[in-house]
Amino acid sequence: MNVFELVESNVRSYCRAFPVVFQTAENAKMYGESNEAYIDFLAGAGALNYGHNPPFIKERLIQYIQSNGVMHGLDMYTTAKRDFIETFTKHILLPRNLNYKMQFCGPTGTNAVEAALKLARKVKGRTGIFSFMGGFHGMSLGSIAATGNLEQRAGAGIPLQNVTFMPYPYGYAESFDTIEYMESILMDPNSGIEKPAAILVETVQAEGGIIVAPTEWLIRLRKLCTEHDILMICDDIQVGCGRAGQFFSFERAEIVPDIVTLSKSIGGYGLPLSLVLLKPELDIWKPAEHNGTFRGNQLAFVAAMAAIEYREEIYLEKQVEEKEAYIEDFLVNEIMPIHEDIKIRGIGMIWGIDFTNVTNDSEVVKRIARACFDNKLIIERVGRNDLVLKIMPPLTIEMEVLQEGCAVIKQAIVSH
Ligand code: PLP
Repeated sequence: MNVFELVESNVRSYCRAFPVVFQTAENAKMYGESNEAYIDFLAGAGALNYGHNPPFIKERLIQYIQSNGVMHGLDMYTTAKRDFIETFTKHILLPRNLNYKMQFCGPTGTNAVEAALKLARKVKGRTGIFSFMGGFHGMSLGSIAATGNLEQRAGAGIPLQNVTFMPYPYGYAESFDTIEYMESILMDPNSGIEKPAAILVETVQAEGGIIVAPTEWLIRLRKLCTEHDILMICDDIQVGCGRAGQFFSFERAEIVPDIVTLSKSIGGYGLPLSLVLLKPELDIWKPAEHNGTFRGNQLAFVAAMAAIEYREEIYLEKQVEEKEAYIEDFLVNEIMPIHEDIKIRGIGMIWGIDFTNVTNDSEVVKRIARACFDNKLIIERVGRNDLVLKIMPPLTIEMEVLQEGCAVIKQAIVSH
């Protein structure tokens, strides 16, 4: 038994799918202890949009450390935080005409979701939240209450309350108008469901199986929230930061959520940072109402600022467009013909190969993912019963490495 199995809690999971001890990494490749290379289609679960160890960002981090830059995570004013706020405002918010204040709320995504839910409830003075079946928002008690997955909810150990799950426009819910359905609940005084403070939504359900909400649906959801005085919270933790094409995933619908949660790749280098963007009129917090020791990792600020410059320097949006075209073409022409019931879905550089109609045995997809790993590709399974293979490489992956990884997937599917 190795030290991990002996000492680490049984709750660990990724290591079971990828049982190698990793040591180094560069862009879209990770290397094990004996230097064997793996192509990374997982990208730190979306935290490594800029790849592993991008030199542009690494250099800034080294400079910061060598200059004895301050290293606490409290919310004091620092040059690193100022530089990040200024750069984010100038390069991300202003060009998109977005007027948000920024709250730094912790190292990880669930911290941003907690802060957003807490703020929405405080602003509206209502406890209820609507979120969506199949959605994923994190593992702490507030965010897991808004997460649909039953196995994950079971970890909570207590009843999870004050969230009502609405149908996401997919599967059986495509046969009716889900916006009208929500409207009918909101209009019905006898529905037994309190008007929520907020509707929490992912524009693409990532962990839920790469389900892309139709653009028109997002526009109507925004309108529904406005008409009923409900805050719209967009959880852009996984599909923001360029993953879905543009910096924010909601840009395709030209909507402006009231609150946006960001984490994962905002930290630029895989460093822990999460934040909430909120419309200025919602900023009703009083000092210390939402505190925490690690609310602003200075290295993450340095990397986050560098990442914003880096994405422009390498024309990342254009790169994503080209790679999106390649992935879609590959899935349509090489994967779908393998079996008539294979479905594909995706946007930008997050795609899923869905085996739900091929088999209901999750072991089959597990074996396919395992065959990929045996052929040196790291790829995750998501969605109901883990029946969807998720393609989510760093956005900076070299085209030939992307092609190589895709070829491994094809071979694994064909041989099963
Ligand atoms: N929200 C979404 C959409 C996510 O995909 C995740 C993580 O996968 C979270 C929230 C939670 O983030 P974290 O795991 O960093 O707490």
